[in-house]
Amino acid sequence: MISVQRGDMRYEGKAKRVYAVDRPDAYLVEFKDDATAFNGEKKGTIAQKGVVNNRLSAAMFTLLAAHGVETHYLETVSDREMLVRAVSIIPIEVVARNVVAGTLAKRLGLAEGTELARTVVEFYLKDDALGDPLINRSHALALGLATRPQLDELEARALRINEILKEHLLARGLLLIDFKLEFGLARDGRLILADEISPDTCRLWDAVTRDKLDKDRFRRDLGGVEEAYQEVARRLLP
Ligand code: UDP
Repeated sequence: MISVQRGDMRYEGKAKRVYAVDRPDAYLVEFKDDATAFNGEKKGTIAQKGVVNNRLSAAMFTLLAAHGVETHYLETVSDREMLVRAVSIIPIEVVARNVVAGTLAKRLGLAEGTELARTVVEFYLKDDALGDPLINRSHALALGLATRPQLDELEARALRINEILKEHLLARGLLLIDFKLEFGLARDGRLILADEISPDTCRLWDAVTRDKLDKDRFRRDLGGVEEAYQEVARRLLP
């Protein structure tokens, strides 16, 4: 593990803090145990979640990089901290779905667990005050959130990432139901995967029992929350 000088806090989100460091092209991300759901209405902590999510995100970013997908991950600094490349985050949350769950089940009146004939990619406006509303390409263009080629690239990138993750997880007994991605722009305009990949941002079901092994255990008070995060770590970390 490397050592970096932690500077001013630049941003505090629900599950992470972002700090400046002693080089201008990078940030330090600290993963917290804090958990929120329903746009912050439900609050709690999940013991050791920060450690698990830091390690899992590093492992998934490393896997993606090995498949040629550029990510912001640079190095792991400590149990709860990673060094990432400084990018400017595009305010669009990109969700990819293989199986119906969560808000898609509600919105379209479909049973959770229904297989989708093809992967669905959705865009949400990253805006906590509005509860991250679903938007379409036309909204994204009209609001100047991204250009048409960038939207195409976001969708293509999400589909590619889905293929890589889905196969990797299935080999370890996990179904990738859906997940959320955030991307940033590097100074030269390149699109780079940012944020995190963890059971906070992915729905993961046991491939045999279809037990939920992700944040839905916290959202829906299913119990065994810490154990689920540990189980995902056990299956995915070396
Ligand atoms: N998701 C997320 N952050 C959000 C909203 C969704 O990480 O602010 C993830 C969520 O964990 C799930 C996927 O994106 O894996 C799809 O979530 P959905 O739209 O069903 O909403 P949710 O039920 O999570 O509110």
